[in-house]
Amino acid sequence: MAATNPTPRTRAAAELGVLAFGLTALAGVIAHLPADTATAPLPAKLATGAAANHDLTADFPNFNLYQTAPYSLVTDAPAVVAQETLATLTALRQEFHRHFADLIRTQAPELPVHVVFFSHEADYRAYVLRAAPGLVNSAGLFLPRDNRLVLLDQLGSHNYLRAQQHAPVTARAQASVRLAGEARAITARLIRHEGTHQLMHATGFESAFAVAPTWLTEGLAQYCETETIGAPDKLLTARLAPPLLPLRQLLNHRQPAGFFALPETQVATAYAQSWALIHFLMQPEYRPGFFAFIRSYRDVTAAGAAQRARLVEPAAVLVQHLHTDFATLENQWHNFIAAVKSAPCADDLP
Ligand SMILES: [Zn+2]
Repeated sequence: MAATNPTPRTRAAAELGVLAFGLTALAGVIAHLPADTATAPLPAKLATGAAANHDLTADFPNFNLYQTAPYSLVTDAPAVVAQETLATLTALRQEFHRHFADLIRTQAPELPVHVVFFSHEADYRAYVLRAAPGLVNSAGLFLPRDNRLVLLDQLGSHNYLRAQQHAPVTARAQASVRLAGEARAITARLIRHEGTHQLMHATGFESAFAVAPTWLTEGLAQYCETETIGAPDKLLTARLAPPLLPLRQLLNHRQPAGFFALPETQVATAYAQSWALIHFLMQPEYRPGFFAFIRSYRDVTAAGAAQRARLVEPAAVLVQHLHTDFATLENQWHNFIAAVKSAPCADDLP
C-alpha cells in the first residue's frame, strides 16, 4: 500500500486507545505504512545531501532545520526539543545496529532520513491529510516513499491540552507535572517506534515486498519503544488482558491494513500480543530459529518470491524454523503469557 493510496488504512482513523494518557484516553495511532515497490519508489531514488535538505526545508519554510547524520529534522519546536529528538533517534539507531547486527542486510551508505516534528496538532493533521489522508488521526507515521518520519509532540496534542484543563483544581500542579511527564514519555515512544520502522526499512531488515506478518513488524517496533531495546514494559503488559487473540490467528495476520483490519476492540490487544511474542521468541532457546524465520522474509527480493511467500501461512513457517510443532509452541506461549502477567509488579518479563 502506498502512502498516496492508504484506503485500507482508513480504519486507522478509528478511535484507538493504543496509548493510555492520564485523565483521558489518547486517541493516538502509531502508524506504519508498509513499503510497496509497485507504487512507492525506494529510498535509493531519494535526493541526497544538500538537495535532500532543500526538499525538506522547501516543504517547511517556517521550520528550523537541525541535523545529526543521517537525520535531518525540521520543526517548530524549541531547539532543546529538536536536539532531544535527534539524540533519541541517534541512540536508537546505534542500539538497533548492535542488537540486530545478525539481521541487517544492507551495508550501503545510509540515505538521509527526514524527520518532521510538529508542535501543534492542527499543523500535524493538515500535513498528514495531504501526505497520508487515511492516517489523519495518527500520532506519528513513517513514509517509506520519502524515508520520512512525521511526528506530533504529545505536549501539543488536543488530548493532552484537554487533560490539563480537566485536571482537578485541588491538585492541579501535581496533575500538570504528571501529565507533562506522560506526554513526554509517549512522544519518546512515538519517536522510537517510527524510528524503528525506518531502520528496519533502511537496513534491509525487512523485505520491500511487505511479506512479513503484521505481528513481526509491529512487535519489533514496540520491542524498541522502551528506552533500552527489549526492556520490560508496564504499559503493554497491562494490555495482555483477555480476550486474547488465538496464537494461530495472530501469527497468520498479514494484511495491508495491518491490525486495523481487526475489529476495533481487538487492535490494542493484537499490538500488545505482538510485542509479547517478540519477547517470547527472543528467549535463547528460540532466538536462532526466530532469526532464521526473520531472514526467510527479509530475503524476499523479487515479485515471484513474494507471491510464493504469501501463499504459505506464517505460523507454518515459524514452526518449521523453530523445529517444533504448533501444539507445543502454543502451550509454551500460554505459559509465557501467564508468567509475564504474574511477574512481580506485573511488568517484568521472565
Ligand atoms: Zn508501527
